[in-house]
Amino acid sequence: MEFNPFQKRFRKGKRRVALVYPNRYVGGIANIGLQLLYAKINEFAHCERFYSDVFDGLRSLESGSRLNEFEIAMFSLHYEKDYFKALEIIKRSGFRGIKIAGGPCVMENPRPLMPFFDAFFIGEAEDRVEEIIEARSVEELSDIDGIFTGKEEKVKRVFCRIEKHIEDEIIGEGAYGKCFLIEIGRGCVRRCSFCLVRQIYFPPRWRNLEDFPEIRGVNKVALIAPSPTDHPQFKDILQKFVERGFEISPSSLRADAVDEELVEILKAGKVKTLTLAPETSSPKLSEFLKKEISFEDLRNAVEISAKAFEKLKLYYLIGIPGELEEDVKKIVEDVVFLKKFIQRVEISVNPLVPKPHTPLQWIPFAKIPELKRKISLLFEECKKHGIEVSLPNLREFVIQSILARGDESLSEMVAGNRNYREYLHFLKGYRLEEALPWDFIDHGYKKSKLLSEFLELVEILDKSYKSMGDKIFRGR
Ligand code: SF4
Repeated sequence: MEFNPFQKRFRKGKRRVALVYPNRYVGGIANIGLQLLYAKINEFAHCERFYSDVFDGLRSLESGSRLNEFEIAMFSLHYEKDYFKALEIIKRSGFRGIKIAGGPCVMENPRPLMPFFDAFFIGEAEDRVEEIIEARSVEELSDIDGIFTGKEEKVKRVFCRIEKHIEDEIIGEGAYGKCFLIEIGRGCVRRCSFCLVRQIYFPPRWRNLEDFPEIRGVNKVALIAPSPTDHPQFKDILQKFVERGFEISPSSLRADAVDEELVEILKAGKVKTLTLAPETSSPKLSEFLKKEISFEDLRNAVEISAKAFEKLKLYYLIGIPGELEEDVKKIVEDVVFLKKFIQRVEISVNPLVPKPHTPLQWIPFAKIPELKRKISLLFEECKKHGIEVSLPNLREFVIQSILARGDESLSEMVAGNRNYREYLHFLKGYRLEEALPWDFIDHGYKKSKLLSEFLELVEILDKSYKSMGDKIFRGR
């Protein structure tokens, strides 16, 4: 059961808008972007939600209405693999209204989805929702900032000022449990080379203590931001909620921000798991990723936290350019050391996806046989030392990378007419001078600057790797 303060009966004259999240409810309800959009749309129209695991995405959660009874369907795409479900929902529902897609995948590269939607929204939609809903045709839509219908040569991403936080939210059983989501900031002050978030939510913006609402009806808050520990008032915000008796759940922590005071607050806020993302155990690769977290930072964070948490969860990447098998073994070596402080450790390892709009957009996805070798090496080493490990489904990552890095030709794959193996060429690198499928999106960075950043990163790698890498970085 959920508590939905926005639910009301449909009144004649109001447009019916379907907000479709083609993935599971548990993720959708824990997404602050969807919560904001739903609240905003209900100010002007009648909005109902669709999730892939509620009536298979074909009927709304609120009233069980069929998708084809709505005039506008807004699809929010957070993972490339959701494209398949989105298309299935469109086809099976027989929806004939206006179809708009938005969300991080669309801000990244909507090319593979071109034939399936009337328009794409590139950016943060809160301030544009009213205009979008009032548009009666694709032509009218195309006049709105941030809209891409396929005819425009360039689209500038739209972003909002973030001010007072919304007062009401739907409370459901989501990824953080039953809680109120508090967005403390948007965008990130860091420049990690692999990270799409730093680009598509630029510039970094924070909310202050006084911007947060009074919360009633739940005893837990999830504090959301790409890198919440960078918030200048992070500890004060946590402290404020803890003093009012709330359990807290921060979205992630940086190891170099963990100190005794923070650990005490988290403990008082009933946080049970310390979650950190060192990404790699190799200092050289860490420099390449620009994550700026050293093993000392990690060890300090875990040592300080030893008595406060039941579990340590660590996120790593593999398939980083220049990575050797010994770098992979070093992950397990580090984790074995950290287990001395917190007995229960789980690691999650995923392949690096060179994302559009990041300085790594030109590099190829790692070679599949090499990734397979590294994954089985990790599995064996973790088993030997009794470490819980969550390993990637490589096929899913290959498909994700193809969809993130490809062009319109991929619509045949999304439609199920062609196999992903026919598109493996999108895993290869791009030539530096080549036009990229996503170049039409203006995220506010200069491509020449991104290229300089990339060339600086290449300098970090070993000479031997770079000569081998001429092959790698030359592209297709
Ligand atoms: S990985 Fe995290 S810290 Fe780094 S830029 Fe992205 S959001 Fe910021």
